[in-house]
Amino acid sequence: MDQLPLYLAIIFLVIALWFAWLYYDLKKSMNEYARLARISPESLPTDIKKIENLSNAIASLKSSFDLRLSTMASENARLSTVFEQMIDGVIIADANGLIQFANPAAKKLFETSHAIGHSVTEVVRNHQLVEAWRRCQQTREIQSETVELPARRQFLQLVAIPDTHASGSLLLVQDLTRVRRLETVRRDFISNVSHELRTPLASLKALTETLQSGALADPDAGPRFLGRISTEVDALTQMAQELLDLSRIESGQVELMLAPLTPKSLITSAADRMKMQAERAGLKLSVNCEDDLPNIHADKSRLEQVLVNIIHNAVKFTKPGGEVNVEAVSGEDGIRFAVQDTGVGIPAESLSRIFERFYRVDKSRTGSGTGLGLSISKHIVEAHGGRIWAESDEGRGSVFYFVIPLLTT
Ligand code: ADP
Repeated sequence: MDQLPLYLAIIFLVIALWFAWLYYDLKKSMNEYARLARISPESLPTDIKKIENLSNAIASLKSSFDLRLSTMASENARLSTVFEQMIDGVIIADANGLIQFANPAAKKLFETSHAIGHSVTEVVRNHQLVEAWRRCQQTREIQSETVELPARRQFLQLVAIPDTHASGSLLLVQDLTRVRRLETVRRDFISNVSHELRTPLASLKALTETLQSGALADPDAGPRFLGRISTEVDALTQMAQELLDLSRIESGQVELMLAPLTPKSLITSAADRMKMQAERAGLKLSVNCEDDLPNIHADKSRLEQVLVNIIHNAVKFTKPGGEVNVEAVSGEDGIRFAVQDTGVGIPAESLSRIFERFYRVDKSRTGSGTGLGLSISKHIVEAHGGRIWAESDEGRGSVFYFVIPLLTT
């Protein structure tokens, strides 16, 4: 019995040692697990004895993290593709105005290759746009500003949006140049049409009023005024027809009836149509074309319309006694047609503009004409895959050229 405390002490010691061993072993496993988690989390064992529960829980946490990470990575990839392909510029700046992100469009619009880490002021380089960003930073409200950059002939719109998560801002930049240009073209077009309509309508009104107030009974003036009315109505009809043609061609509604065509037949039939008019104007109209030029692939009536337009101009702008020559030659990129006159010529600064709608060099000298003929001709030639241009020596004459590609079989 005396030995009992000793036995108890020994048993207690054994149990204590056993627990100490367990504690030591557990700690060793935990340390090993922590070490692996630090250096290679992907190879974490899932079935370590003693901490099996813990390792299983960590393993499932890890796989759910992995899943989230891969979802985030694919979303990130998708977002960066969107940002890269966007035609609008996107810039993210922090509270101090330092740029943290700029997509390629933003760099292109602000003509810079290094935006990240630079300030908004350095990159944007426009007082009004920078002010819009500052106002957004101060008020934490969306601000927008549109500016014209005359040096670059560009219109930019900037929308600055406060970043709700951080104290920076998001800048969206749009290039409005094309939209503005189209608006101007539309406005000019409407004002040109109204102007062109007003003149003949005013003279029609004046002529009818004169007839109403007695001229109708006058055997001399009556028919003269009626003749002028008829001329004005013809001019209006021609303009309506040309406008309709132009709008159809521009909107691609006109389908070309392409067929093999000999250049000679085309220029002879156009010249034949203009012969009388040239004679009446006291001009010599000649045709110069070899019989065996290769065929072109063209819509005969449309191309004839182009040639007639150009010959008609040559006749209109050449004084009596002058000459108009129509020719076709074979060139490298197709058949080159040319209409040469010995007329008044075109000033150098107008040469590039005569193909614009309603453009007339000197409205007073033209007399009749809408300024639409060459614009229509340009569209028709381009629809055939060709090109049209003019050369001129003011006071001595002009040459109008257009090239139509050869028929390729
Ligand atoms: P229009 O109906 O006025 O002739 P076009 O579009 O055919 O319209 O021509 C535009 C302008 O180009 C003319 O008004 C004229 O000022 C100029 N132009 C065209 N052809 C000639 C030419 N052969 N000689 C001189 N000027 C020309």
